[in-house]
Amino acid sequence: MKITLFVGVLAAWLAGSGSGWAQSKLSVIATTEDLASIAREVGGDHVTVDALARGYQDPHFVEPKPSFILRLQRADLLIVVGRELEVGWLPPLVQQSRNAKIQPGAPGYLDASAGSRILDIPQGQITRAMGDVHPLGNPHYWLDPENGKAIARSIAAKLAQFRPSEKAYYDQRVADFSNRLDEASKRWMAAMAPFKGVKVVTYHRSYPNFTERFGLDVIGYVEPRPGIPPSPGHTLDLIQEIKRQQVKIIIMEPYFDKKTPNSIAQQTGATVVVLPPSVGGEKSITDYIGLFEHDINLLVNMLKQVGAKPGD
Ligand SMILES: [Zn+2]
Repeated sequence: MKITLFVGVLAAWLAGSGSGWAQSKLSVIATTEDLASIAREVGGDHVTVDALARGYQDPHFVEPKPSFILRLQRADLLIVVGRELEVGWLPPLVQQSRNAKIQPGAPGYLDASAGSRILDIPQGQITRAMGDVHPLGNPHYWLDPENGKAIARSIAAKLAQFRPSEKAYYDQRVADFSNRLDEASKRWMAAMAPFKGVKVVTYHRSYPNFTERFGLDVIGYVEPRPGIPPSPGHTLDLIQEIKRQQVKIIIMEPYFDKKTPNSIAQQTGATVVVLPPSVGGEKSITDYIGLFEHDINLLVNMLKQVGAKPGD
């Protein structure tokens, strides 16, 4: 009699957990705040999401903390940018977490780059030996709203793999996020349209997807190669090129030393713009759509201020 009752209660509980929201939330760790923001958009209140790197840090070189290992130990799903962006700091942490669920190749490990448009894919020999930190193509691909939508779709598919009964919930949230992103993108494209083809220089190769989408022409970089600090010879060449092509804007990430860009600006009359490439790059940038909102506003104001015109 007692056993029958117990079985009945168990069956009712199982039925309830299958259909409704009786399960615990999935614990998601993203390596960056950009991926974390998109994961929140997709997972809603069915997930808890936490980022490892902060948006004001260089995502290639994040100082590992013991707390990262603790957080990885408890994760159901780890989302990485991939393309070797995190290769300098993440692999030992994942290994030391001893969490079998999130090891590369396990179901709880998601490389968000699949499905995105990846630029700068090297032709022929892989160049890491020369210090290039982009040996598998450009890993800053999240800076294009179209790729943001692709990332959201990848995350939704992965979450649905964990919780098949919640597939419709995740799909609905992706559709909603994509619609909001499309609406905002139209505004951003319109705001940038008058500056199509304006020539700029960037510090690191962080913005190729961004500049391709919004129509700027990057003619040079402060770094000689991705991950290699500025050298006097390269800086002199760049100054000549900026003068020759009358470049008015030098875009840089918040986490590099301003010394060289400022010196270049001083010698060429160009203006340095610090353009956060990530959510959290500034306190006011709290989500993925807000990142573009901030950056497009900043750029448009700056382009107007320096009187940049296409052909410049
Ligand atoms: Zn990079």
